Amino acid sequence: MLEKIKALEKIALKLEPASLERKTIREAVVNYSEGFLDNIETLKAYQTTTDKGKQILDAPIQDQGIDINQILDLIGHNVDRPGLNPASGGHLAYIPGGGIYPSSLGDFLADVTNRYAGVFYASPGAVRIENLLLRWMCDLFGFPPEAGGNLTSGGSIANLTAIVTARDFKQLKSRDFEKVVIYSTAQVHHCTLKAIKISGLYEAIQRNIPMDEHFRMDAEALKKAILEDKKNGLIPFMVMASAGTTDTGAIDPLEAIADLCTSEDLWFHVDGAYGGFFVLSDEVKAQFKGIERADSIVIDPHKGLFLPYGSGALLVRNVKWLYNSQHMEANYLQDAFDDIEEISPADLSPELTKPFRGLRLWLPLQLFGVAPFRAALSEKIWLCRYFYEEIQKIEGFEVGTYPDLSVMTYRYIPKSGNVNAYNLDLTNRVKEEGSVFISSTTINGLVYLRLAVLSFRTHLQTIHRLLEVLKTLTKA
Ligand SMILES: *Cc1c(COP(=O)(O)O)cnc(C)c1O
Repeated sequence: MLEKIKALEKIALKLEPASLERKTIREAVVNYSEGFLDNIETLKAYQTTTDKGKQILDAPIQDQGIDINQILDLIGHNVDRPGLNPASGGHLAYIPGGGIYPSSLGDFLADVTNRYAGVFYASPGAVRIENLLLRWMCDLFGFPPEAGGNLTSGGSIANLTAIVTARDFKQLKSRDFEKVVIYSTAQVHHCTLKAIKISGLYEAIQRNIPMDEHFRMDAEALKKAILEDKKNGLIPFMVMASAGTTDTGAIDPLEAIADLCTSEDLWFHVDGAYGGFFVLSDEVKAQFKGIERADSIVIDPHKGLFLPYGSGALLVRNVKWLYNSQHMEANYLQDAFDDIEEISPADLSPELTKPFRGLRLWLPLQLFGVAPFRAALSEKIWLCRYFYEEIQKIEGFEVGTYPDLSVMTYRYIPKSGNVNAYNLDLTNRVKEEGSVFISSTTINGLVYLRLAVLSFRTHLQTIHRLLEVLKTLTKA
């Protein structure tokens, strides 16, 4: 038996490369990533290819490993070349991604030491970091001292957890689901509709409240709908407001919605996955007035704080509501319950084992301070406003509503032919050109091009490049 164990150990030891071996792998990876970053300015925002990374399939998972340089070649050719490059400042579509460098080093450290951030007793320091970050975010929005939250993988899971928390707080019974009413606008993010479905509330009535000409919820119409529903014996349950819709960047009238949620006793949820962190920016801070009265807020550090993908956050006005919804005891975790100086993230989330997400956010905030984040957010606002002015100077272009934040819509009116078809085709031609990447949307049957500025690498020269590309491609 001992011989057998020793033989297995010899093979298994491959999993523990020694210092020199670590150095070889690490340097290869660092060289690769440095090459990527050094060329980021010239890398395309979108790369059209015919193979679409297909050679990745030629390297199946096998019993024996391959060389790190071979692996990096596979990644370089098949992963980091075809398709969208979310790390590029030229990414001006959907909601652009981030990828600030120190976050990757935070992940590196968190992964090497593999601290378990689920339970205070397991890693008090890691949990303190996560709770400190959540406290900081709660303070940004003016939440009270009893507020708290959870660091999630993104906005979708955070929205789902918020809806489940609201469902449990209001003690909705499944027999009542058909009478439960959820209010939002047609511009609410589709992940919240998905969350309603997953939370079991798909039988609930989902009311689309009309919007004003800026695509913000009409608070008067909301009031009418709630009162009407109450009169008809229905159960008005929650309002899902948006602080920055994905399509047009609109912020719903939060203060008026807060008033209604207070007087009519509804859960007030704000999806700020895209727009929430703009509360840091003096230019637009006032538009968030009323958000401090929300019951739950969703924000996405992997959008508004420029982190690499994998960081969302849910904030709840009273952390007990979240705890009551999400915590569960288990006998095999009994040792973990004694020490309650800090609340444990695993008690505030469906997740038990989770990555130490705090470090990828805490490290850059400590290293840079908040000032550059604030400046970058204000810069994005001004870049969007600048584009709004400049695009109208190019013949044939017209704009949608003035941007609340850093997303806006515009379109080209050709001298003849179908306007919608032209703009869809223009989106594709911009994609083929590749130096910038934009997306389109359809609003009231009209196809619009969208500008979404949120990459930390998007600066004035990027906007100039986009204007140049659009001018060239629309030249008769
Ligand atoms: C991106 C986004 C979401 C979804 O968040 P993920 O992090 O992609 O899961 C939700 N709401 C809004 C407004 C968004 O922009």
